[in-house]
Amino acid sequence: MRVVGTLLPSGERTQFWILGDRITFEKPLNATETVVDGGFLTPGLVDVHTHPGHDDDATFTEKQFREECMAHVAAGTTAIRVPGHNGPIPPGARDDPDLPRLVTAGRFLAYEALQTGHPIHTPTVDLVAAAVAEARANDGWCKLIADWAFDVPAVPLDLLARVVDAVHAAGFRVAMHCQTAEGTRNAVLSGADSIEHGCYLSDDLIETLAARGGAYVPTGAAFQRSVPEVRTKPDGPRKTNWLNGAEGLFRSAAVAHEAGVTVLAGTDSAPFGNVFTEVEFLIAAGLSPATALGAACWTARDFLGLPGLVEGGLADLVAYDADPRVEPGILRHPRHIILRGRKIR
Ligand SMILES: [Zn+2]
Repeated sequence: MRVVGTLLPSGERTQFWILGDRITFEKPLNATETVVDGGFLTPGLVDVHTHPGHDDDATFTEKQFREECMAHVAAGTTAIRVPGHNGPIPPGARDDPDLPRLVTAGRFLAYEALQTGHPIHTPTVDLVAAAVAEARANDGWCKLIADWAFDVPAVPLDLLARVVDAVHAAGFRVAMHCQTAEGTRNAVLSGADSIEHGCYLSDDLIETLAARGGAYVPTGAAFQRSVPEVRTKPDGPRKTNWLNGAEGLFRSAAVAHEAGVTVLAGTDSAPFGNVFTEVEFLIAAGLSPATALGAACWTARDFLGLPGLVEGGLADLVAYDADPRVEPGILRHPRHIILRGRKIR
């Protein structure tokens, strides 16, 4: 199968071929069929923070997992990182031709003293052992809840640091949920590899995160979607804390990018297959459209170790009729989608 178009982010007009699950820029000897003829080509999109498969009670089912994964694919998202899921990934899902490439992190590990009460969380006293076990049983990532309610102390820094050290020593990485000033501070100082939400991410913490090559996943669009509902809640410190935290994500995303932090796009909540909304959030925060798109594409792929449209890269791509760096709205309307070498659209 031959693909022709303008390759992003380079802007080079090129052609390449799909051989099974891989791409090559070397013309095959046998006849080929042109499956994409023109337009702007990106490697498959990536949502680095999404939790497909859970019903309202946080029960994980294979049926819902498949449906929500396929909604991602239908939008051109050919890879997802799942930082927390409440059930084992169904056997065969990782090689299923209909499903996106999966990078999973196992259960949402919540320190027992946080008393989150959230049905999707797994309370545990032995965070260190649980984190290493989940990373090993999944794709080299684990997920920790560093804080929960604004008026309950966050998980202590020394405990988080011990978890991160143990996970790193085993060769794995840590994604850390934080949404309060104390939790975000502890998460950054603990050495976590990716800071999820990171409300109240101050400039000095951003410098620390940048210096060690950390990543930041603001999930800003998900927060923005909840703002109208939170505004209807009774006034008080809880509401103020949440709203200020959500509003601060715009600035944190922009400052983090400027400082050299790897800012990535994650949607967190339903609907699935809407990573373009997070690209739009990042543009609203002040990132250039090309950088914002990269956060949901080539930058995220580099971060997760998923080769894009290079010799021998994965045969996952999206074609658009217009240049999404100039017209980001086109991300809502992919012309063609190829996943694992197969044309989905
Ligand atoms: Zn989440």
